[in-house]
Parts: sequence; C-alpha cells; structure tokens
Amino acid sequence: MSELEEHSNIKLRSLLCRGAWPALLLSSMTILWLGFAAGHETLFFNISYAWIVLCLLVAEKRIPYRTAWRKSDGQLGADLSHTILNKGLVQLLIVSLLGLGVVGTAEGGIIAAWPLAVQVIFGLVASEFALYWAHRIAHEWPWLWHFHAVHHSVKKLWLVNTGRFHFVDSFASVFASAPILLLSGMSMDAVVWVSAITAYIGILTHCNVDMRCGPLSYVFNTPQLHRWHHAIDTQIGNNNYGENVMLWDHIFGSFFLRPEQHVEQIGIADRMPVRFLDQLTMPFNWQRYQEATSASSSDA
Ligand SMILES: [Zn+2]
Ligand SMILES: [Zn+2]
Repeated sequence: MSELEEHSNIKLRSLLCRGAWPALLLSSMTILWLGFAAGHETLFFNISYAWIVLCLLVAEKRIPYRTAWRKSDGQLGADLSHTILNKGLVQLLIVSLLGLGVVGTAEGGIIAAWPLAVQVIFGLVASEFALYWAHRIAHEWPWLWHFHAVHHSVKKLWLVNTGRFHFVDSFASVFASAPILLLSGMSMDAVVWVSAITAYIGILTHCNVDMRCGPLSYVFNTPQLHRWHHAIDTQIGNNNYGENVMLWDHIFGSFFLRPEQHVEQIGIADRMPVRFLDQLTMPFNWQRYQEATSASSSDA
C-alpha cells in the first residue's frame, strides 16, 4: 500500500469513527419517519432496526473498538435467550395493556397538542428521570443488583448483549418509565418515537465499534460513555445511569467520562453462572450461589 493510500485509509477510518453514531441514529430515524408518512410505522421500525443491526455487524468487523472482544465469550446463546424472553414478555405486556384499554387512555391532553418533536424531547427527558432512578437503585440496592448483575456480568460489549437483561430487571425499567409516557397525555406517535429512539440508542450503546462521539457523549448515552458504566471498578461503573440522555446524571452528579482514556476491564466482581436458566434463577439464591462457587474455587 502506498503512503498516499495509507493516509486516505486513516482519514476514512477517522471519518467513519466520528460519523457512525449520528449517521446510524439519523438514518434509522429517517426510515421510521418514512414509515409514519406511509402509515406503516411498525413495519418501517422493524426495517430501521434491521438496518442498524446490519450496519453494526459490518462495522464491528471493519472498525472494532477492541479486537479481543470479537472472540466468543461462550455467552451468545444466553445473550439471545435473554433478548428473546424480554421481547416476548414486553410484547405480551403491551398486548395485555391494549386489551385492558390502559394504553392511550390519557392521549389527547395538553401535551398532545405540542409539536411532535417537542413531545418526543419531553418524553425522552421525563421518562429518563424514571429510568435513571430505576437504574441507579438497581446498582445501589443489593436485591435489585442481583438481577441487574446479569447485564453487567459480560466481559465484552457487542451488539448481541444489548438485550441481555434478567426479565425482572427489564420489567423494573418498563414499569418505572412506561406510566410517564402513557399517562402524560402525549400522542401515541410520540410514544412510538420515544420507544424507537430508545431502541436505536440502546443497540448503539453496546456495540463493539470504534465510535468517537465527541461532545455528543455529554448529551446522549453513547458507546464511548456506556463502556465506563460497565467498568468492573464500581467507583467508575456506578455512574452514567442514563439510558438515552445524560441530563439527570449531570444534575445528580453521576456523570463520568475520560474521553482520551479507555476503560480497562469490564464485568463484575461477583460470580455469575454460565447457563441461561441458571442466570434466571441465581438472583433468587444469590448468597448461596456466591458462597458455593467461591468455596469450590478455593478448594481447587
Ligand atoms: Zn447498569
Ligand atoms: Zn449496558
């Protein structure tokens, strides 16, 4: 490769690293916007999500944040099982709420008269308040940490462990944030937009792509920022609780970012079973599991 080619490759990589996060978020939102215009928002949301997954699969291969994270951690099956279980249960919850007539009952209030973009920003910030505290309590209250630890037990981040949450942990977040969205009086279109943006930001946040997000990390939850939240060192990891926007972390003093540095080790100091079903049951007998596994490892 000539020096000129090498130089232009470096420039292209730098451009991709800096532009990937806003480009993927905005392009997905554009697809959803086309879906609204065509009256097929559910279909177009699925297309936009498939688009973002496809781009991230390619980007994780071409511009990985950490090459070592491309190796298998033996958790692919568990990650996917948690994702499928959570998606299934949340769908069931939505269908049940629709059946009971709970969803959409408050639609048509003062907020629904606001411009859609203002409603979406309001929805993101207001629901984030609940998400922030649900997440922070999950770190600070041991009983809930035992469930949230399933998400944090991974030793690498990539798009597949985006949905790796114990279903109790997932439900705690949904129950904390959904009432704010559904009972605030905002339009259902705005609720769909907030949910879609949450899904886009969520998958971007966990990807193993070398994204340099610059000032965006002070406003949104970016992969550069969220990796610090997964630090094994709890002095660092017990920060950055925001799921979409970082406003409440700034207000409550839990924002942590070292833009020029890299997090050393991610994971948890506690023990976590390898198998999916054991991960589901382990939080209910956490203490016994921790003691049994630490005794067996010290015997070895
Ligand atoms: Zn967490
Ligand atoms: Zn995470």
